[in-house]
Amino acid sequence: MSEQLLEKIKRLKDERRAVILAHNYQPGEIQDLADFTGDSLGLSIKAAETDAEVIVFCGVQFMAETAAILSPEKTVLLPDKFAGCPLADMITAEQLDKLKREHPDALVVCYVNSSAEVKAESDYCCTSANAVEVVNSLPKDKRIIFVPDQHLGRFVVEKTGRNLVLWPGYCVTHVVITEEDTKNTKARYPDAIVMAHAECTEPVKELSDEILSTSQMLHYAKKSTAKQFIIATETGIIHTLKKQNPDAEFIAASDRAICPNMKRISLEKVVWSLEDMQYKVTVPDKVRTKAKKALDRMVEILPAE
Ligand code: SF4
Repeated sequence: MSEQLLEKIKRLKDERRAVILAHNYQPGEIQDLADFTGDSLGLSIKAAETDAEVIVFCGVQFMAETAAILSPEKTVLLPDKFAGCPLADMITAEQLDKLKREHPDALVVCYVNSSAEVKAESDYCCTSANAVEVVNSLPKDKRIIFVPDQHLGRFVVEKTGRNLVLWPGYCVTHVVITEEDTKNTKARYPDAIVMAHAECTEPVKELSDEILSTSQMLHYAKKSTAKQFIIATETGIIHTLKKQNPDAEFIAASDRAICPNMKRISLEKVVWSLEDMQYKVTVPDKVRTKAKKALDRMVEILPAE
């Protein structure tokens, strides 16, 4: 059955001149069929560099929006229209606007996990991999508003010593990884290196050896001589970690760390997406131009990972 679906996807992909992107948290079979796997910004940058006419983004809404911001001439499809991101939805452009009025002199740094409208209201965008560098590059006398993830924000505060205005957003998938989960997993695998995402809560990060973005985790595991890793992030990444490092063992800090939105994408939905050219994700020009400025300013500070 899945062989037939894969054949169909391949045929449709050629017909549509499409490129398929899969985020590191996607189901394994989706990561396996994709042209590129990676994090949301890296994928959007790669897709923009191709001459494909269509981008099928196997991920969530804000990721497809980011691809649309960087590739306005391409058609961007999200195979499931309800694949959203609760973290990105935790702040609206109106709420950010209100916060900006409370801190009129502040610069706004928004995590890439945010809507196009929120990006458009921000001065700089950042990823979890470069948030510290982006904030460090800003004038020391400037107040900085950081949205929407409070846990990534606290990590940046700790690393930069800057006093950021944080928004109380959080990733529902990362906060389910508890301190107890991490302690218990460490007790079972005392020699394992613990890699945690910055979206995890502070006690989990304190128990970790490395705080890394998903791309950095993949990179770290490839270079490391260690043979056991505890992974404190969405469990989908373990599929690629295992594939790339067949001799190493990867253990989820918590089996509950599964993002239901990421798992909405299936082989069937990718077929339907290409067949019916659905669901198109567009960003109005006015919003797109402003949001792109925030992304460009980040890239000017440092190249994307
Ligand atoms: S893992 Fe968290 S941040 Fe990523 S899409 Fe799911 S809810 Fe959003």
